[in-house]
Amino acid sequence: MFGENGSNQSSLPIVPVQLDLDSTFSFTCDPELSCFTKCCRANEIILTPADILKLKHHLSLPSHELLRQYTVPGTIASTELPIPVIKHDEERNNCCIFLGDKGCTVYEARPVACRYYPVASGLFHNKDLESNEVFFAMIKEPVCQGHGLGPEITVRQWREDQGVAPYDEINSPWVEVVLKRKSMGPFINNISDKSLEMFFMASYDIDAFRRFVFFSPFLTIYEIDEDVTEKIREDDQALLNFAMDWLKTTLFGEGLLRIREQVAPEESIEVD
Ligand code: SF4
Ligand code: SF4
Repeated sequence: MFGENGSNQSSLPIVPVQLDLDSTFSFTCDPELSCFTKCCRANEIILTPADILKLKHHLSLPSHELLRQYTVPGTIASTELPIPVIKHDEERNNCCIFLGDKGCTVYEARPVACRYYPVASGLFHNKDLESNEVFFAMIKEPVCQGHGLGPEITVRQWREDQGVAPYDEINSPWVEVVLKRKSMGPFINNISDKSLEMFFMASYDIDAFRRFVFFSPFLTIYEIDEDVTEKIREDDQALLNFAMDWLKTTLFGEGLLRIREQVAPEESIEVD
């Protein structure tokens, strides 16, 4: 879909063997291996909405500061949709900006792409079944010495050990939006700059989206239940789900948010 694991790893040598959740492999990552952290130097790691939520909480930063300090703009593969990519530090051999002397400095909040590695995961929309399907594959980079070490493990167990499931769950509504846009194909007119800005804010700059909801005419235009309003005031994950409903409504006309009857159809809200 948007690159394996949500990372821009299209140039990686991925063995073309499809894995499923019960496929087995042996892999051990150990700080004693001479390749330790070499995988944090070459690859571009994109940040999904779940990564942003976890990292901003971990670093106690508002989303716009996290994006400003640690990311550069990227694009989701095969779409024009924007996505933040972790900065590389040119003065330190072009390594990931989060790499420290002893390894990853944000290990507890490391992105889902880093958690999955060396497994690659992706999603595609099965048009025949009208469903989104997940696939897995193995990334085998020559630099990585962990392959073949340790006991056999299933992809399912690897996901569990690496704490991937909560990330996939948080990202699920966003993935739907991306796949929906992608399924429209190249024949649909290019998406407008304003829509791309809306997508970026709703997906990644969650604190800006909260300001947009509470400090613009948003709540006078959309009819939002009071309990939902209270929930999204504080809860980032609930706000992200709400943001995806807003995107599906505004980008794809799904009508998940109700517009108040007295609002003129031409009334709109400016995105900062
Ligand atoms: S290159 Fe492979 S084995 Fe070495 S640190 Fe990275 S993931 Fe672990
Ligand atoms: S976030 Fe951490 S694990 Fe991922 S590439 Fe950067 S330093 Fe490595």
